[in-house]
Amino acid sequence: MLTQNLLSKERKMKLRWFVTLSTVPLLGVVTAFGLVPQSEFNIDTNKLAVESVVLPKVTPTTSSITSFWHSERVKRGDTVTDVLRRLGVADNAASSYLRTASAAESFRSLDGGSEVQAETDTNGNLVSLRYLDSSNAQVIIEKQGAEFTTRKLPAALEKRLFVRTGEVKTSLYAATDAAGLPEAAANQLIEIFNGDIDFHHDLKRGDKFTAVYEMTYSNGALVSTGRIQAAEFINQGQSYRAIYFNGDYYTPEGKSVRKAFLRSPIPFSRISSGFTTARFHPVLNKWRAHKGVDFAAPIGTAVRATSDGVVAFVGKQNGYGNVVMLSHQGRYTTVYGHLSRFAKGLRKGQRISQGEIIANVGMTGVTSGPHLHYEFKVDGVQRDPLRVAMPNAMPVSNSRKNEFDALADNFNSRLNLLRNTNLAKVD
Ligand SMILES: [Zn+2]
Repeated sequence: MLTQNLLSKERKMKLRWFVTLSTVPLLGVVTAFGLVPQSEFNIDTNKLAVESVVLPKVTPTTSSITSFWHSERVKRGDTVTDVLRRLGVADNAASSYLRTASAAESFRSLDGGSEVQAETDTNGNLVSLRYLDSSNAQVIIEKQGAEFTTRKLPAALEKRLFVRTGEVKTSLYAATDAAGLPEAAANQLIEIFNGDIDFHHDLKRGDKFTAVYEMTYSNGALVSTGRIQAAEFINQGQSYRAIYFNGDYYTPEGKSVRKAFLRSPIPFSRISSGFTTARFHPVLNKWRAHKGVDFAAPIGTAVRATSDGVVAFVGKQNGYGNVVMLSHQGRYTTVYGHLSRFAKGLRKGQRISQGEIIANVGMTGVTSGPHLHYEFKVDGVQRDPLRVAMPNAMPVSNSRKNEFDALADNFNSRLNLLRNTNLAKVD
């Protein structure tokens, strides 16, 4: 009984036509500015495939026109009947086959936005039907006598490089849209450069960008927008370039574009108290230096390690209350105080990655309200994490430097060429 239920539930879930797809573009916009670990690119490939899938054109031979091709996209909430009607198919046998045959299961599992092409005879009978299934294989359903057969051509994936350039006039997204850069690539562009450019405050009219990105096709149809392979952003006249290599982005010289430290362990929070050498302490009721930054956030908010490191201390300590201290690269220490709880199993000596959740905001220790007290120490001395120049993450390793240089030369000359062409256009 249980198995039965689970199966039917799974089947229901596969009928994605009836399920809301997560294609809310605003989400992409919001996360684009988040302090997500920069190695994590949340690319909504589903959504992008939806926007520009083009199946190979199949044109009828002009000598004897006995069939017609129709192309339609599956809409959210569509039934098999709905899709067939829009495709101009009026064929009960075909409808029955597509609704019930197990060989046509992949048709019933098509996501909203998927393109379907149908060939019909002059009476609306189905001759053949084509689409890409969830594994990007080309599925061909054909009428053979009175029966229908389904065959599959395996996915033939092919990657193509595209280049887009643009100029900021009103907003960055308006510019990337105008340039025809897919949203997933636009989000990557921001993630790549947000260590150097504050996209909330530093963006200026006239800023320019170029992105070289990869698109994956199967049997000629776009499957996904992949990674940016190289990019340039010119912000207020200053040029920044990045080249993708071995899972990370580097300057053409091979330095990491990623900072070793995130500016803040909590994204989007208000700074309730900055770094000062003297301030009035509301609880102790006297003037004291505040050698950290307080981030106001509700109790329970996730606190993230600002850099790769090792747990140096986890527990209770005086005014800090529950506190985590991490040491990084030998000379840096970060401190996270007033926590409500620690990440499960967190212990001294444990290795932590940048962006990993280590604890939750609380109000333990000496504090007037829930917030995170964060300290950034260089050689044991507290520095202002919002102002100090952050070190970069590790550069390209020596053993792979030659390989990287060859790649970087190639992209660099391409970017130079594009920049010159763009300048010519502006003149
Ligand atoms: Zn504080």
